[in-house]
Amino acid sequence: MGNASNSDLHTVISAQTALQKLNTQNGKAQASLDTHNISPPGHASQLPRSNEMLELSRSEYRQLFEHAPVGYFVFCQNTIVHDANLMGIDMLLTARRRVLHKPFLPYISSEDQHLFMQHIEHVIDTGDIQACDLELIRNDGTTFYVEMQSMPLERANSDEVLVRSAIIDITVRRHMEEELIAEREKALQAARFMNEFLANMSHEIRTPLAGVIGFAEVLEEELPDEHREIAQLIASGGNRLLHTLNSVLDFAKLKAHNHKLMQTPINIVERVQKHCKMLSVLAKQQGLTLSFKSDRDVVLALLDPSSLNRILDNLIGNAIKYTHEGSVDVTVHMEDDQVEIRIQDTGIGIKKDFLSQIYEPFRQEYMGDDRPYEGVGLGLTITKRLVNLMNGEIEVESTYGEGSCFTVRFPLLKEKMSKEITRDPVKPTDSPDFVVPKYRMLVVEDNLETQLLVKRLLKPHLEVVLIDSFDAALVAFNNGTFDLVLLDINLGEKRTGTDLLHKLRALPDKPAFYAVAFTAYALPTDRSHFLTQGFDDYLPKPFTRSDLMEVLQRASLLQNAGVEENE
Ligand code: ADP
Repeated sequence: MGNASNSDLHTVISAQTALQKLNTQNGKAQASLDTHNISPPGHASQLPRSNEMLELSRSEYRQLFEHAPVGYFVFCQNTIVHDANLMGIDMLLTARRRVLHKPFLPYISSEDQHLFMQHIEHVIDTGDIQACDLELIRNDGTTFYVEMQSMPLERANSDEVLVRSAIIDITVRRHMEEELIAEREKALQAARFMNEFLANMSHEIRTPLAGVIGFAEVLEEELPDEHREIAQLIASGGNRLLHTLNSVLDFAKLKAHNHKLMQTPINIVERVQKHCKMLSVLAKQQGLTLSFKSDRDVVLALLDPSSLNRILDNLIGNAIKYTHEGSVDVTVHMEDDQVEIRIQDTGIGIKKDFLSQIYEPFRQEYMGDDRPYEGVGLGLTITKRLVNLMNGEIEVESTYGEGSCFTVRFPLLKEKMSKEITRDPVKPTDSPDFVVPKYRMLVVEDNLETQLLVKRLLKPHLEVVLIDSFDAALVAFNNGTFDLVLLDINLGEKRTGTDLLHKLRALPDKPAFYAVAFTAYALPTDRSHFLTQGFDDYLPKPFTRSDLMEVLQRASLLQNAGVEENE
């Protein structure tokens, strides 16, 4: 029972239509003969022969109907069963006498009875074949799912329209669909859980790290020389931990296909040059030269800025890490419809047999307790995935003992899309003479250590008001005037810094202010997320004094631009 497929059902419906025509024609012929009591043209002896043929086709039709591999029911308009075939009766585990001339509704689950009535009505109204899925109840109380296809049945000598329905058992298919839906829901739930877990882990590690790295920086400046080195070690340990955390979080997000890109037109030359400038300090500490060359000033590509930064950090960072003497040379070159970034070093090189494993997670050429290099072996895995996500490609050439060259290629941006170019946030090194304006700053932060740190780092430069809750922030903002507000995102009690920002912006008669999202929920795409929520800037935790200074510098640039516009 129930082993007929969907195509069986269609075949049977077509056969049924053909038979119906035959039957109707025969019926009509017979009816017209009966009504008018006339003899058909030809010899009178032909009549018994046609009756015989008619009887034969009727009995053939009955045979087909009875032994069809699908269940058949013929319903009157009031859904009383007018006829049923063997398979149909069998499917209900009942006897013909219990079904014929009885209502069909008791065999339908209460939830689907209305649907069935509508279905029959619809068939009669439209005169077309219609389909629906129903849950039926067998005589023993068990249930099963069927697909029902019904068509109106013309009857000779009667105004009443019958409906003939073919049914196939779709219980197995239905259960498979239900299982698939349940599995999909489970997978979605696991992804949601994973997301929350990553965000929480990021928050829980970054918040105390902000204190460790920040206070180490304060101590580095304030301690006498002999203790300064200890503070430096604490800060570098904190930064290493932060680097590992970022790698693991990025990897987990990429693995869960959860990494959202915010692609925007970028001048690659400017980005790579800035990155080289930033990392040249590190290269210098290792006695290396880091050079940058490009054959043009502007080369545009559609990329996610934070992902590009991550790629450059990993590749240039590795080139410096694995080179003991000589140089790291970075070039940007345009070729046909692609831009090529090459990072060439004169470092330790990579053995041939390791080259094929280089992008696999946690793979390192030097492993074990005595490995001489830092790192968890995720940098290149993340790099390759990010490059591919942005429609690029990466390749490596290396000679063991001589050096390596990593090449990344991205498609160039089409001319008409290149109007809006995203620039890097300003770095303080761009203008070393920056003098912090006499700003008044409101800091809303519920973590005491972070409060103290911000105050300590900023107090010499500007007036800072520290607030630890949503409501107190509203009161303070109402009673004062602030040029800058630094809003922690997680303020507890289900209220966020973003909600607070919207409230502050809606307050009447308040001068414009520069709003900064301040959060330990720092994942690569968060910057763009907070900017679209209405913030002017974003400061992830942990942060350094120089990060805070960059924020102040960007705020003052925006304010100056505003003043110039008004003049
Ligand atoms: P990590 O540097 O954290 O170990 P990566 O994924 O960035 O992890 O790199 C994987 C491995 O590839 C490294 O452990 C190193 O053996 C090798 N490698 C990567 N870049 C270079 C390079 N520029 N020179 C030599 N070896 C490299």
